[in-house]
Amino acid sequence: MDCWHCGTQLIWGGDQDVYEEEDENFDMVTNLSCPKCESYVEVWHRWRPPEKPYKTVSKPSRNGRQRDMDAL
Ligand SMILES: [Zn+2]
Repeated sequence: MDCWHCGTQLIWGGDQDVYEEEDENFDMVTNLSCPKCESYVEVWHRWRPPEKPYKTVSKPSRNGRQRDMDAL
């Protein structure tokens, strides 16, 4: 990534975890610095809640149950 001010390639300083107590909307912050004009840049990574890994299962319908009873 290039510096906003002078266009020089920024130096990656490190990634830090952002905890919920600090900010609930972001989970990581990357800091970068410019070797030429000494600008300091932070990139805050947006956190999103994980999607449910499974589908909700609907209850069996009354019609389905009646069909099972008839089959007996
Ligand atoms: Zn710069």
